[in-house]
Amino acid sequence: MRILHVAAEIYPLVKTGGLADVAAALPPALAERGLDTRILLPGLPGILHGVADLKPLIRIGPAFGAAIVTLRLGRLRDSGLPAYVIDAPFLYRRDGNPYLGPDGHDWGDNHRRFALLGWIAAHIAAGELDPDWEPDVVHAHDWHAGLAPAYIAQNPGLSTATVFTIHNLAFRGLFPLDCYADLCLPGRKLTPRGLEFHGQISFMKAGLVYSKRLTTVSPTYAREICTPEFGWGLEGVLGDRGAALSGILNGVDTTVWNPGTDRDIDRTYTVENTAGKKSCKLDLQAELGLKQDAKVPLFAVVSRLTSQKGMDLLLAALPELLGEGAQLAVLGTGESGLEAGFHQAAAANPESVAVHVGYDEALSHRFMAGADVLLVPSRFEPCGLTQLYALRYGTLPLVRKVGGLADTVAHASPANLAQDSATGFVFNDANSRALTTCLHEACALYRDENAWRQVQRKGMTQDFSWNDSAAHYEALYRSL
Ligand code: ADP
Repeated sequence: MRILHVAAEIYPLVKTGGLADVAAALPPALAERGLDTRILLPGLPGILHGVADLKPLIRIGPAFGAAIVTLRLGRLRDSGLPAYVIDAPFLYRRDGNPYLGPDGHDWGDNHRRFALLGWIAAHIAAGELDPDWEPDVVHAHDWHAGLAPAYIAQNPGLSTATVFTIHNLAFRGLFPLDCYADLCLPGRKLTPRGLEFHGQISFMKAGLVYSKRLTTVSPTYAREICTPEFGWGLEGVLGDRGAALSGILNGVDTTVWNPGTDRDIDRTYTVENTAGKKSCKLDLQAELGLKQDAKVPLFAVVSRLTSQKGMDLLLAALPELLGEGAQLAVLGTGESGLEAGFHQAAAANPESVAVHVGYDEALSHRFMAGADVLLVPSRFEPCGLTQLYALRYGTLPLVRKVGGLADTVAHASPANLAQDSATGFVFNDANSRALTTCLHEACALYRDENAWRQVQRKGMTQDFSWNDSAAHYEALYRSL
């Protein structure tokens, strides 16, 4: 069976979040199961430079405002999988964030940039661009690829099955109605039953309406997005398509996230021997200018600093955490008010709070290895990957009971401790009081070395590799 994945970013070439990790790890996991898997990517500078052996396959265009569009075929360096890259210099050769210009606002032609991605996917599906390879399934990821199923559905001769995965419904790919004329789609699709969304166009909605099957990245988030609280106005559409929707948990790329082999940390370690973790903690404290003290619980954040991630809740709870004698290390970028809040806290408590504003992949590994607790107090969280990395690294996740966090972390309650099923800390309500209570619970458990070790061991032996998830995706493809 031939599967074409369509995504806007891929680790380590272009990454703004978990989508890139999934795009890098899921296709190889499917290939290992014997599926003939390829990926289609936009020719952003990092992708053009990072995909190996890129050769022109066919020259297309002009299309979507670009005079020159060349479809190239190469190989991903890590997995060796074939990758199609759309080389459209006018649309994609722009440095920095793939979606935002230097002014921090969306590129004004994002509708054309990502329509092209979906449009090329549909033409590959039709066998028009690569005579040697036609997919049976096109698997599109997030709004950037949302038009792929719409273009495929528009071609009555095409029987290609389509799967659309929602990685984060908050980003709906919204554009003004007058952009519709640029999309090469018939007028009849511009209705509330099609792409129209309250007087705008939504690429996310296109994916939801025109794909044969829908998935999202955890079973709990699959249920949540059918409710007004988490549906971003699309809960009605999702409710109508309920029979087509399922949740499949993301996995961890264990070649990248493994404390036993991690090249970004000075001392590797395993579940049997965690001595290396202690020295990673002292290293991290030293690197961040925190007081070096193995006994102090070190809490960490590796995240976008946004209200989605509950970072305002954490700032509100911080005085109580510091009152416990704990330390906090933050790695992230995001909303300026939150960045400033963490900077202020670090300035006021230089020995116990450290903030690194920025995106740093290697440092994120040192955080994961050096911390005792990883904080993910999200308001909503489709899957969340950092809590899965933390589990593998013996860093106990402290999470809100929402989305994929609820599916992957078991609270260290007396009952769960007694049954040896606890893997971290979980709180319910999205307020700083609930978070504070949970922080106190974590500090109390930290003082009980044996109990801590038990929870750590349980977490480190959880299997969140891609094997299971890939098997679920394969079953889904075969059902089509
Ligand atoms: P989201 O996609 O909503 O941002 P996820 O938890 O699914 O959240 O994925 C975030 C990914 O980005 C993880 O791989 C995480 O390690 C990484 N990440 C987030 N912020 C940073 C940062 N400042 N530096 C390095 N990696 C980061």
